[in-house]
Amino acid sequence: MTGQEGRDLRDSLIARAQSRVELREGSGEQESAESTRRRCRKCKRTGHNARTCKEDAEMSTI
Ligand SMILES: [Zn+2]
Repeated sequence: MTGQEGRDLRDSLIARAQSRVELREGSGEQESAESTRRRCRKCKRTGHNARTCKEDAEMSTI
């Protein structure tokens, strides 16, 4: 293996690893932020979260 080949191999490995990390972090962060911030876990509605969910009070009275 020549020095040039070694460098190319390392560069491609680094580039691949970086793009993979960016993809994973980007999609994962967006997905979790979107689902936890904007959507209620209990009733699946948007505009509030599980803490302020009105469904919870209704459910407990039944
Ligand atoms: Zn809710």
